[in-house]
This record gives sequence, C-alpha cells and structure tokens, in this order.
Amino acid sequence: MRSIDPATGKIIKTYAEFSIKKIDSGIKDAQAAFERWHQLSFEQRAGKLKAAAGVLIRNKEQYARLMAREMGKPVSQGRGEIEKCALVCDFYAKEARRYLASRSIKTEAKKSFVTFQPLGVIVAVMPWNFPFWQVFRCAAPTLMAGNVLVLKHASNVCGCALAIADVFKKAGFPDGVFKTFLITNEKVGRLIRHPLVKAVTLTGSTGAGQAIAAQAGAVIKKTVLELGGSDPYLILEDADLRKTVETCVASRMINGGQSCVSAKRFIVVRSRLKEFEQRFVEKMREQRMGFPLEEDTSLGPLARHDLRDGLHRQVQKSIRRGARLLLGGQIPEGPGAFYPPTVLTNVRKGMPAYDEELFGPVASMIGVANEKQAIAVANDTMFGLGAAVFTQDLKRGQHIAAHQIEAGCCFVNDFVRSDPRLPFGGIKGSGYGRELSTFGIQEFVNIKTVYVK
Ligand code: NAP
Repeated sequence: MRSIDPATGKIIKTYAEFSIKKIDSGIKDAQAAFERWHQLSFEQRAGKLKAAAGVLIRNKEQYARLMAREMGKPVSQGRGEIEKCALVCDFYAKEARRYLASRSIKTEAKKSFVTFQPLGVIVAVMPWNFPFWQVFRCAAPTLMAGNVLVLKHASNVCGCALAIADVFKKAGFPDGVFKTFLITNEKVGRLIRHPLVKAVTLTGSTGAGQAIAAQAGAVIKKTVLELGGSDPYLILEDADLRKTVETCVASRMINGGQSCVSAKRFIVVRSRLKEFEQRFVEKMREQRMGFPLEEDTSLGPLARHDLRDGLHRQVQKSIRRGARLLLGGQIPEGPGAFYPPTVLTNVRKGMPAYDEELFGPVASMIGVANEKQAIAVANDTMFGLGAAVFTQDLKRGQHIAAHQIEAGCCFVNDFVRSDPRLPFGGIKGSGYGRELSTFGIQEFVNIKTVYVK
C-alpha cells in the first residue's frame, strides 16, 4: 500500500498490508480489550477521550501537514479539521453518560426500563477526504458507549491511519481499544464475517456501501452507511445574492470540493440566474490553487490522479451533452492532481453534472421557472444527504426545508456542515443511520428492554 503526494505524484512511503493471521489476532486483541473497556465507568472512558483531544491539539501542526502531503488538503484547512476532532472528543466525553442513561417506561410491571449496552468490536471503513475527522466522528461516540473500534482507512492515507492509532496510544487508551488495520478493500469482507465483529460503519461511495451492506446482510450484522451526495442548493427569487453566492462558493470549494455535503447543484430561479452566475464565477476566480503546504493556498490538488481524471471525464461528458463551460474545465500543465475551479451552466438531466456526484471543485448551474420546479429538480436525484434553501422569507424557507426536500438535513440561508450537537446522515442512495448527537451514539448499542414483574 502506498502514500503518494498528489501535489507531485511522488511516492511518500510504502506500507506492507496486514496478513490474514495479523487481522485475526488483531480482532481477538480487540475483543479482549472490549471485555475490560466496557466495564469502565463513563468518567474513566471520558478521561481518556479528553486526553485524546489534548494530544490532537498539541500535535495539530504535524497532523495538518501529514494530511496535506497524503491527500492534498491545504494546511490552513487541516488545522481546522484537527480542532474539530478535539471538539467531538470533548463533546462526547461530556454528553455520553446523559445520552445513554437508562430510561424508565411506565407499564404494568414493578419496573420497566430501557438500557443501552455496547455491542463489542465495531469495524469502521473510512474515506480519505477528511482523514482525521471522519474517524473521530465515529470513534468518539462508539468508544464512549463502551465498544472498541477497528479502523480500515482508505488505502491512500495509511500515514494518517497510523497517526490516529498513535493519538489513542499517546492518550493512554488500553491496547486494543482502537486498532488500525492496514488492508485494502478486498479484505473488508473477512472483517465483516469474523464472528467477533458485531457491526460495521462505512463512510464512502455508494458502490462501497452496496458491497458492505450485502456482505453484512449475509451475516445479519448492523451497518451505518454514510455515502455520497449531490446536494442541491435552491436559490429563490428573493435571495440576497451577495451573501448567498459567498456561502454557496464556500460550500462548493470546501476541501477542494471533495466533501459529501459540498453544494453540488445550484438550482436558481431564472429571473436571478444571470446575476447569480456572474457573481459566482467572480468568486470562484478568487480561489488560490497551489501547493497544500503553502499558507495562502485555498485549493490544493485533488487527492489522487485517478479521481481528478474521473472528474474531468464527468465534466467533458456533460459538455458533450449540452452543458456550457463558464470557468475552468482544463487540466493544468505539469505534475500534480490539480483541477481548476470550474463552473458549468445549462446543466440538465442525462448529464453527469446533474445525475452523478461531482467530487471536486466543479459547480453545476440549473435554471428553473419557480419554487415548485426548484423543489422537483432538487429531489430528482438518487441521493439525499444535504440541501440548502436561500430566501429572505424565513417561514417559506423553513417550510421547504422541513417538508419538501428529500435529504437528511436541509439548511436555510447557510451551508450544510456537521456539528456534534446535530444528527448527520442521509436517505435514499446517500445511506442510512446517523452519526453525531444523541442519535449517533445510539447506533452501536443494544437498546435493551428490561421488564421486572
Ligand atoms: P470509497 O472509494 O468508497 O472508499 C471509502 C472507503 O471504503 C475506503 O476505505 C475504501 O478502501 C473502502 N472501500 C471501497 N470499496 C469497497 C468495497 N467494495 N468493499 C469494502 N470497502 C470498500 O470512497 P472515497 O472515494 O474514498 O470517498 C469519497 C466518497 O465518500 C464520496 O462519494 C463521498 O461523498 C463519500 N463521503 C460520504 C460522507 C458522508 O458522511 N456521507 C463523508 C465523506 C465522504 P480502499 O481505499 O482500500 O479502496
């Protein structure tokens, strides 16, 4: 397994994949750790998680630079990612006890209540786009609930995967409570089938979701799937375009556009389309594409050359089918998986820019006649992760968000982002289950009824 610097195309380091024997003994170690870990009090587990937050903050610079080198995230954005990981650790250290407190339910029995018991060894299959955040977002609640975690990270970020295991070690977690396995996706099935593994969580593409859900289904193991999205942003005729465009561009360009909840389709009421496009293109031109270790870079290379080439094919195919390029769309000369800020207009059904997820700095403009059509286009997708509505009429925005958009979350006049206090996840092809908040910590517990007559 190799880490390749996407800014230069040079190999950073090669890693040996774990053998079957090492995988099997690693799972046994994790199970042994579970036997002790789940007996600890919430306070004892919280102490460790707070220590992990401290390790993250103390080593923020080192981790941000590691992400920059392995997957091209600008260091200025990497620091924010590490801070958010520390935040989610502190959050669950504080809230887990309350979220998992037993709940009394009145029945004819002397006593009846619901209690939340950990399941055991949980496997986490994670993507490269937020190499630290995705892992901590699932690790913090899962570990606080008393489970132990085995991480199979994306093959291109082995350095991050090992650094994360080291965070837990430095924080004083007992051996085996958090383990990183360096394996490619072909070995995930073996993990899922292992009798000591109780459940699996995946953040990744729809294809990976289908494969993992099928394998877990065959052995009746629970899955949480956080998959891709093609988030629609609806711009209604009364939107404040200056603020709206700023928010929309920020969302589209976050992490080089490689975020599941980046705005992907801009559905604009036609009377405002020209102005929206003009302002949008101007703002996109302000992006500074460059090397991720340079402080003023806002757009680094994409994470891998094959992903950049795939994105370019989606853009070209959309153009062949009638989309018009307003900006970008050309692969720059020279090494590195760079792709420029790109804007497509005249986007319609039947084009990749409409039907598929574009995982990079490419915005799709879709003109519509009115609100009704905007909602229909927004929901005309296999995905259902995030969405946003822009209007100065907050009641109208709230109604559309709450009742008319098919997505796991819908923001009004802001861009979608994850927040430990709020549940996060999708519907339709974007997956199922929730992370974060009280809902996230209840995914990998046995919600057990106790009835005492
Ligand atoms: P990916 O190719 O699906 O990889 C994600 C993880 O799944 C990696 O660890 C990968 O391992 C593994 N994997 C891939 N195919 C598999 C299979 N058939 N069986 C078992 N494991 C498999 O996705 P990606 O390109 O890294 O990440 C981008 C995708 O993730 C986008 O679609 C994005 O929207 C989605 N995403 C969703 C969320 C969310 O919260 N909903 C957040 C971030 C990203 P290898 O690296 O070894 O192939």
